[in-house]
Amino acid sequence: MSALYLGIDVGGTNVRFGVFDGAQCVASYRTEMNLRERCAQAGEVGTAQQLVLEALASGYHRLREQCPQIDGVGVAFPGFVTADGLLRQSPNIPHLESFALEARLSEQLQVPVLLENDANAAAFGEFWALRQDHPEMQSLIYVGLGTGVGGGWIQSGRPWRGEDGAAMEIGHLIVVPGGRRCGCGNQGCLEQYASAQGLVSSYLEYTGMAADPKIIAQLAQDQNPGALRAFQTLAEHLGQALAHVVKVLDSRQIRVGGGLSAAWDCFGEELRQQLRRNMIPALQDTVEIAAGNGDDQAGMRGAALLAREVLTA
Ligand SMILES: [Zn+2]
Repeated sequence: MSALYLGIDVGGTNVRFGVFDGAQCVASYRTEMNLRERCAQAGEVGTAQQLVLEALASGYHRLREQCPQIDGVGVAFPGFVTADGLLRQSPNIPHLESFALEARLSEQLQVPVLLENDANAAAFGEFWALRQDHPEMQSLIYVGLGTGVGGGWIQSGRPWRGEDGAAMEIGHLIVVPGGRRCGCGNQGCLEQYASAQGLVSSYLEYTGMAADPKIIAQLAQDQNPGALRAFQTLAEHLGQALAHVVKVLDSRQIRVGGGLSAAWDCFGEELRQQLRRNMIPALQDTVEIAAGNGDDQAGMRGAALLAREVLTA
C-alpha cells in the first residue's frame, strides 16, 4: 500500500482534515471549531495551545478509523512559522505565541508532523502539480485571495519562510499611501484592495451599496460599472504589487488561489496586463500568471504533499 499523509488546514472558524495518497484525497472531514473565538476566550497561552492540540488530535483520530495507516501529518497554519517549526504568532488566532506545535503534536500522535504557513502550503501544492509536467521547475510565487491576501514563495523546491516566518506577507505591501486602514496598523495595504473584503469595500465606495463578493462577481459579468471598477481596482493594485515581487525574487511562475480566484474571469486578464505593464520591459514575456487550484482542498493537499516530501527526505 502506498504512503498516506494527513493534511490539516487550520482556519479561525473551520478546520479541514484530508488523508492523501499523493495528490488524491481518499478521506476527509471538515468541522467548525471556532478556534479564533475559543482561543480568545482561553485568554492565555497554555490553555489556547492545549485547545489547538486537542482539536487537531481529534480530527486525526477520527480519520484513523477510516485510514489506520497514516505515515505523517502536514499542518497548514495561518501564522508565522519559523525554520525550526515553531509557530511564532498567528494574527488570526490569538494566544499562540512561540508554540512548538510541530514537536508537541508529533509527540502526542506518535507520528512525524510538519508545520507550515498556510499560504506556503498552498504554494507547494501548486508547485507540486506544475512540477509533474516541468520537473526542472525550482520556484513559484503564490498569492491567495481570501478574507485576506496571503503569499507564498517556493524556492529551490521548498517554501521560503524567512527569519521570523513572516516572508511573503504581500498583503501588507502598501499600495495606496494614506489609503484604507488595515488591521496591521498601517494604511493602504494591498489586502484592503485585493482581498474579498477589499473588493466589498471598493464596491461600497463606488456605488454606496453593500454586496458580497459572489454578487459583485455576478454583477461584473453583467457589466455593472461599479462591480467592474471594483475588480479593476483589485487587478491594478495586485498587478503592480506582483511586478515588484517578481523584480525582487526573479521567479517565472505565479499562481493565484484562494476563494476569490473563482472570479478569475472578472479580473485575470486585467491582472495579467497590469503585471506586464509594471515589469522590467525586457522581462515582460518571461512571467506566466494563471489561476491556481482555488478549491477548498488546496491548503490540506499542499500540507500533505509537503509533509510527504520533507518527512521522507
Ligand atoms: Zn496591513
